[in-house]
Amino acid sequence: MRAGDIAIGGDEFVVMAGPCAVESERQVLDTAVSVAKAGAQILRGGAYKPRSSPYSFQGLGVEGLKILSKARELTGLLVITEVMSETDVDVVADYADIMQVGARSMENFALLERLGTCGRPVLLKRGMTATLEDLLRSAQFIVAYGNPDVILCERGIRTFETATRNTFDVAAVPVLKTVSHLPVIVDPSHAAGVRSLVPVLARAAVVVGADGLLVEVHPQPEKAVSDGEQSLTLAQFDSMMVDLDPYLDLRKVAGMAFAAAGGND
Ligand code: PEP
Ligand code: MN
Repeated sequence: MRAGDIAIGGDEFVVMAGPCAVESERQVLDTAVSVAKAGAQILRGGAYKPRSSPYSFQGLGVEGLKILSKARELTGLLVITEVMSETDVDVVADYADIMQVGARSMENFALLERLGTCGRPVLLKRGMTATLEDLLRSAQFIVAYGNPDVILCERGIRTFETATRNTFDVAAVPVLKTVSHLPVIVDPSHAAGVRSLVPVLARAAVVVGADGLLVEVHPQPEKAVSDGEQSLTLAQFDSMMVDLDPYLDLRKVAGMAFAAAGGND
């Protein structure tokens, strides 16, 4: 599928990177310039944040969307940002190139229905306790209501393991690539919960046939208002991209072999 002039789910490996939340113009512009230089094609950043406490930062809303838009003008990166409510779909679609549905909203059916007619591709995150079938049913909702451009996102699930924030279900990628034609993106940041594990999970995502990554990056993670522990610094993101290169080259040569790894035989 296409978002702007970027093809997602084809030969190209697509990297979406940026802060968990839009905090300020400086923070977003610095991040955007840096991740673009490192090879990302799409800028992420939440202007509407689903927070587990009402006392946490809830996002800058429209002001945040405007900052993302400015970063797009400056860098040429496309913008992906979360939409939490069907009443915000129009305003988010005015500024975003791709609409993100968060893990907590995967079964917000009023939202999914409305995204059927939003005119933008939708990245649908797997719910924390959702099976792959649940995820695909939610994707079908968006498609059934008129929007075929759905991107699936594995971001880790809740298990009994506590060493990582969530458990990266690595098999989800080849399974989804086998049973569905939709692109599959991996978010290693929310799976890991700590920045030290993000590059290795990203590498695993390439090798199992993911179509791209969604990665949290912050110019000063220690000052981030959300998800600082799992955000890469700008320099760490650079290194991660350089380190991924040989795997991406291999993916080009053996792309079909990676993708076929999920075949049922
Ligand atoms: C996010 O991408 O910052 C986010 C809130 O992710 P998730 O919905 O996967 O928890
Ligand atoms: Mn986050």
